[in-house]
Amino acid sequence: MNSPILTLALCCQLILLPGGPPHRQTRGRDGAVPWSVVPPNRPSAVQDRYLDQARQLMREVPLIDGHNDLPWAVRTSFALSLDSADIARAQPRLMTDIPRLKQGLVGGQFWSAYSPSAFEGRGATRVGLEQVDFVHRLVARYPESFEVAGTADDVVRIHRAGKVASLIGLEGGHMIENSLGVLREFYARGARYLTLTHSRNTDWADASTDSLEHGGLTRFGEEVIREMNRLGMLVDLSHVSDSTMWDVLRVTEAPVIFSHSSARRFTPHRRNVPDDVLQAVAKNGGVVMVNYVPTFIYLPSYEHSQRSQAYERGLRQRGVDSTAVRDSMTVWNRANPEPRPSLGVVADHIEHIRSVAGVAHIGIGSDLDGIDTAPVGLEDVSTFPALMAELLRRGWKPEEVKQVIGLNVLRAMRQNETVAARLQRTRRPSVAQIEVLDGWSVKPQWDGPSR
Ligand SMILES: [Zn+2]
Repeated sequence: MNSPILTLALCCQLILLPGGPPHRQTRGRDGAVPWSVVPPNRPSAVQDRYLDQARQLMREVPLIDGHNDLPWAVRTSFALSLDSADIARAQPRLMTDIPRLKQGLVGGQFWSAYSPSAFEGRGATRVGLEQVDFVHRLVARYPESFEVAGTADDVVRIHRAGKVASLIGLEGGHMIENSLGVLREFYARGARYLTLTHSRNTDWADASTDSLEHGGLTRFGEEVIREMNRLGMLVDLSHVSDSTMWDVLRVTEAPVIFSHSSARRFTPHRRNVPDDVLQAVAKNGGVVMVNYVPTFIYLPSYEHSQRSQAYERGLRQRGVDSTAVRDSMTVWNRANPEPRPSLGVVADHIEHIRSVAGVAHIGIGSDLDGIDTAPVGLEDVSTFPALMAELLRRGWKPEEVKQVIGLNVLRAMRQNETVAARLQRTRRPSVAQIEVLDGWSVKPQWDGPSR
């Protein structure tokens, strides 16, 4: 019923089709997921030494992953129900369950509270709240495995207690419906970062996969950043346009993150971070949390997706109906399998960011359960030690690997908390209105819509 038309990342890789909304593809409901057929990575004896060392480092420092789409995967494939998706047991249709989180020594997880841009003005806030509610239900259902974290100290404490510190990342600025009050309410319910856009522009910020509309942030967009600084909410620049990245880096008083983005050095995908922005993030004290999406990180996968999109566009331009397009794409994808990167490609991105920005500005933002295919060796949440072992194998010092595991993100969180404490001494919550700040021709709706 939901058979793949294209191999698309669930959360991150969106295709703008002419005349239609960005296309988002959920995984098939038949459980025939590509990663389930990949044989497990069997490390050699030499690699095992690095794997043991990686695991030891991950017991000392919490592995903090910037982006996991379990809430969306359970929403779309299990009707939001943790009875259907009981992750205390192995869940082969998912990339995330408790046994594999333990195996992967995950210490802190930003669970993504996501709603597609297409929901803008059509229930996006409701969907966002339901996804935040999912995380609270998850933690309440499995209290021996999870605890909600609101601060860096919480993450460290919860990790020491042997649980996964559960943080909430709100993915898509459209969910605040142009309201700083709604932003504050999401913070109050635990959201600790806001990804300013998803695939489409908001009324106040340009996205990387939409047309240039505002040239970055509008004046209200700048006020959103100031209010996030005052709250201590991390500004997430994954998904935004280059111009929005630069505007934020000009306005923000606190370190930013990219919760799930890689380096544009390897593919021209606009979801990746260009080198000049990497250097600016280093000055800002921020962290780029490296993403696994094959089409972002690996040129053969990127080129494959370009060919696939061109083929589908051609079918649509010839007026082929949707069912026939889907069938044709199934045949095309069978004849043209998507190339898969290895775990080493992700390590290459990490090493590039180290060379341009420095080791203090790297984290991990896997996007697991938001992607259709993952790099070989990084198929699920059990595999984080393998990636850290690869860095050790390449000669990284244990202290450097610990920074990537989680110390950099903890530092950025702490700096945001410090900036917030300072700003809250002098600044009250903003009641700025987009209609006023951005010179809209309509007034704010103080007393209800006009008849
Ligand atoms: Zn995303």
